[in-house]
Amino acid sequence: MDYLPIFTKLENRACLVVGGGDIALRKVHLLLKAGANVSICALAFHPLLKAKAQAQEVRLIPQAFSVALLDKQWLVIAATNDHDINAEVARAAEERQLLVNVVDSPLLSSFIMPSIVDRSPIIVAISSSGTAPVLARLIRERLEALLPMHIGRLAAISGKFRHRVKDKIKNVSLRRRYWEKLFGNGKLGTLLEQGKTEKAVELMENALCSQPSSGDVALVGAGPGDPSLLTLKALQLMQQADVVLYDRLVSSDILDLVRRDADLISVGKKAGDHYVEQARTNKMLIEFAQQGKKVVRLKGGDPFIFGRGGEELEELLDAGISFQVVPGITAASGCSAYAGIPLTHRDFAQSVTFVTGHQKSKGEKINWQALASPMHTLVVYMGLLQTEKIQTQLLHFGRDKKTPVALISHGTTTEQHVILGTLEELTLLGGGAQGPTLIIIGEVVSLANKLSWFNAQNATKLSRDPFLVNLS
Ligand code: SAH
Repeated sequence: MDYLPIFTKLENRACLVVGGGDIALRKVHLLLKAGANVSICALAFHPLLKAKAQAQEVRLIPQAFSVALLDKQWLVIAATNDHDINAEVARAAEERQLLVNVVDSPLLSSFIMPSIVDRSPIIVAISSSGTAPVLARLIRERLEALLPMHIGRLAAISGKFRHRVKDKIKNVSLRRRYWEKLFGNGKLGTLLEQGKTEKAVELMENALCSQPSSGDVALVGAGPGDPSLLTLKALQLMQQADVVLYDRLVSSDILDLVRRDADLISVGKKAGDHYVEQARTNKMLIEFAQQGKKVVRLKGGDPFIFGRGGEELEELLDAGISFQVVPGITAASGCSAYAGIPLTHRDFAQSVTFVTGHQKSKGEKINWQALASPMHTLVVYMGLLQTEKIQTQLLHFGRDKKTPVALISHGTTTEQHVILGTLEELTLLGGGAQGPTLIIIGEVVSLANKLSWFNAQNATKLSRDPFLVNLS
């Protein structure tokens, strides 16, 4: 970061502008908006500056710049069209450790002025640190369109209501939820847009009385790895969460998108240092919700596919905690799409089965006969340690040994690795795979040679600020 963005309070503070033309006028205008006490030093003045002086809004100093003028100033703007004078002002200000901006010369400046979207009291400042002002302007235009005019009023009345909310809702998490719910629901904005301020206040008041007393849990599917495969709902909940309990399978790129102040707790199995049993996880979910927190239980893929989502919900239900479930893209969908393997295809497979290589207890029966049918796609989750058994059983029940297979590791991420081969080689191929791996067995796998498209090296990383991602 080359510049630290700060918002300065200039009300009644002395600021000096050197220069009396168009550019100086623009800067004076901004300083006055911030309530500064503005003096302007120049040999000639724009008529509008003269008018402002007459209205006693500014003070004109009709003389050449001299160092003494810097006395008791908070900041200085050099806005003449003479480079030497601007440089002299910059040097003198620098010597006195005064903040100085030289118009169009970041090199001489100790502060630069950003592009501004002004919805006071909401102010957005954008800067490209002097590198690409046109890009900064484009971003500003987008933000102008994005932020409705009434957002300033919304912030202003919320500011007035803040203490009342603080008095009424003592719990910080619940207080945040109150505001999130209010701002998230478009009604308040609509009322303000229509100028119905009293009704808006009434709405805020009513919401205060109907505050829930406990938190809740959202069981959220995080998809297979690529953050841009998250659902909008998943992202929203992740950005509102007080606490997120996540599995080992959830990628760090996805965790980066969680609200910064949220507590992140790994409950991943097999991570060694963070092993937390299922019972402990269930207990934490309940306890956090009872403390009034908004809890997100983030799971890889889809929570209802080999994710024990159902088991966790039953516990919440017993404890009387309210919950919701957000589906995610399961590994079978994500990996097959990113490897160019359609799971069904009119010429190759009319059905698909998802099985897990990891059963709860040893005695459970798998119907290998059914799984070995031709023209059928078999997707095996957690199957890497079971490749030998899968190969033997499928061959035993008559699946063709030349049936194509794919082992997709770290699917949809920048580390995606795909191994292609045939059923008779499955055990051997399994030895070459590492990390979370999905096995796809079936005639459809042959399509990967034609349809593979994903270049892991060129995969993009999602920005923490999702709406900037598609900015071109
Ligand atoms: N609920 C998850 C599955 C959890 S079981 C879902 O719907 O996807 C964990 C198994 O899923 C892993 O052992 C692996 O077989 C598979 N898996 C999950 N993410 C994967 C990925 N990015 N690449 C390959 N396999 C993955």
